[in-house]
Amino acid sequence: MAHSIALAGNPNSGKTSIFNELTGSLQYVGNWPGVTVEKKEGYLKNDKRFVVVDLPGIYSLSPYTLEEVVTRDYLIDGKPDLIIDVVDATNLERNLYLTTQLIETGIPVLVALNMIDLVHKNKDKIDIKKLSDSLGCPVIETSAVTKAGLDDLVRTSQQIIERATGHGIIARFSEPIEAALKEIENLIEGQVTPESERWFTIKLFERDVKVLERLHLSEEILANIEKIIVKIEEELDDSSEGLITNDRYEYIETMIMGCYKKGRQTGELTISDKIDRILTNRWLALPLFFVIMWGVYYIAIQSVGDFFVGSIEWLFEDFIGGNLATFLTSIKVSPWLIGLITEGIVTGVGSVLTFVPQMMILFFFLSFMEDCGYMARVAFIMDRVFRRFGLSGKSFIPMLIGTGCSVPAIVSTRTIENQRDRRMTIMLTPFIPCGAKLPVFALMVGAFFPNSAWVASSMYAVGIIGVIISGIILKKTKPFRGEPSPFVMELPPYHFPRMRGVLRQMWDRGKEFIKKAGTIIALASAVIWILQSTSWSFQFVETQDSILASIGRFIAPLFAPLGFGTWQVAIATITGLLAKETIVATFGIVLGLGGGIAEGDVTLLNSIGAFFTPLSAYSFMIFTVFAVPCVAAIGATRREMQSAKWTWATILFQFGFAYTAALLVFQIGSLFI
Ligand code: GDP
Ligand code: MG
Repeated sequence: MAHSIALAGNPNSGKTSIFNELTGSLQYVGNWPGVTVEKKEGYLKNDKRFVVVDLPGIYSLSPYTLEEVVTRDYLIDGKPDLIIDVVDATNLERNLYLTTQLIETGIPVLVALNMIDLVHKNKDKIDIKKLSDSLGCPVIETSAVTKAGLDDLVRTSQQIIERATGHGIIARFSEPIEAALKEIENLIEGQVTPESERWFTIKLFERDVKVLERLHLSEEILANIEKIIVKIEEELDDSSEGLITNDRYEYIETMIMGCYKKGRQTGELTISDKIDRILTNRWLALPLFFVIMWGVYYIAIQSVGDFFVGSIEWLFEDFIGGNLATFLTSIKVSPWLIGLITEGIVTGVGSVLTFVPQMMILFFFLSFMEDCGYMARVAFIMDRVFRRFGLSGKSFIPMLIGTGCSVPAIVSTRTIENQRDRRMTIMLTPFIPCGAKLPVFALMVGAFFPNSAWVASSMYAVGIIGVIISGIILKKTKPFRGEPSPFVMELPPYHFPRMRGVLRQMWDRGKEFIKKAGTIIALASAVIWILQSTSWSFQFVETQDSILASIGRFIAPLFAPLGFGTWQVAIATITGLLAKETIVATFGIVLGLGGGIAEGDVTLLNSIGAFFTPLSAYSFMIFTVFAVPCVAAIGATRREMQSAKWTWATILFQFGFAYTAALLVFQIGSLFI
């Protein structure tokens, strides 16, 4: 059996980066806490005898958050052969707090003193020898960025496992506490392995519910333990947990004093601090965020992106579509099949792929902003705003992930422990425009609002405002009443992202859309084309007599008050449930946008202009932002809610909200126009 190496450490200390380097895999590295919720496994790159496990980041081995429970359970039950404790060397004190607890589990610990490049840059000095002596386990300086120390880390890991060494020195607390711990230890002797005795003893002393449950101690022993704890709590006038925390920090402080020298005078501002003075400023932060998002959308949709659109369009419409039709005719393929392929599939897929460059550019900037540390600030800024309306900043992290795709965003709500907050976040996360909605915006902007970048980027603000208004409304209902959960987040220092990482993330996100175009969108396009070419008696007919038209006419009146009551658009809102890009594919086929989708294109305006006015186009965009997301997101909602009732409530709420918002915009807008 392979030996197992667990990577544990504080959030954002670089565990996943090191994991990727050690295993050669491509896990998601994010510059904010809570990205790795589940543990991930991979073999050591050059030695398949070792399996490496990347664990969620934690500050302590307490049983309060999901991350803590996942990590703890793995360490105690999975019994890895070695823990590599990834320590953020720029923040020794807080990181060693966890290190001392990891040592207590009795599992060999190897400390990776990561981010050492930043320590050198700050001109701080850490005496590795002394640190290693006081912890009793090997310490290796590493940097996942410069790759320094990583080979050494692997070599030492192998050595420790082969020689079964590396049991660290256990943190000692003040006399009375040690005495109490000794008494508890005697009571549970033989119930746990000798190596893990210290850990279980301390957990019992802290009244850790999960540990109390799992040890199945007799009533008598439990009563005795409680007596010991109560006695010392009265004596020292603090909760047992508080006592341990205090003593642990004191122990660490003494240890650090011996081996750490700060290079910069305290109080001096780092560059990150200086940037943050502006970017997280009370008054400027929010406007700056919107300006930045405006810029991103402007570049993605209007300037650079638009340049590519024309070429891709030419490729699909004229080159592929045209030549394919000629070729198919020459080999005597029947006309309806040619229609299905060229007017259906090629048009549908083509009209979606047209927007891939714009999506890629959007993803590039989002990945960049995330990796350099800005998005963590945005979550922090949003916490200030959200809190006033009863939402927690914790809800905003899934929403940031949702700028790419709602599915991983909904999954990431697992980091929210509070059930109430979590449900609400699942319901509202899809309000933040995902990548798939971008083609819809780009199409509408191209036709009705060329040269005004604010229209597309306003969808972000609209999404956030929608979240806030919904928060206010939902908080008034019974299932959601209560204080939002606290949100503590450390802001990582800014750094210039590694381009390789950013490009890879852009590609990872973007390729999903290309895959979708080749599968679900192609299939949907074929079905839409068939439905719009045949009648209920399966005869080829003119479009207005088709099955699609009759279904569309049936539901169209529902959308008439929103300004888009034609059957063609009604159909698009339904097909959009498959995937939001299908809306664009549907328009491509049904509205016959054959001629062009590029911005300001006359043919585009001619064909789509019959179905929308600028006002109803905007109302349609608003509807798209809030409307029930795609089937994949509904599936994720069902999985995470684990309740059909809540899933239906979510769907109804989203539809109701979308309908109302679009209705208000269109009706009020009509008064002025
Ligand atoms: P995790 O939360 O512990 O898994 O941390 P990640 O691996 O996701 O890394 C968090 C952030 O720190 C990312 O932006 C990384 O690029 C960055 N990072 C990781 N290791 C280092 C390092 O050694 N030096 C520097 N300067 N940055 C690092
Ligand atoms: Mg991670």
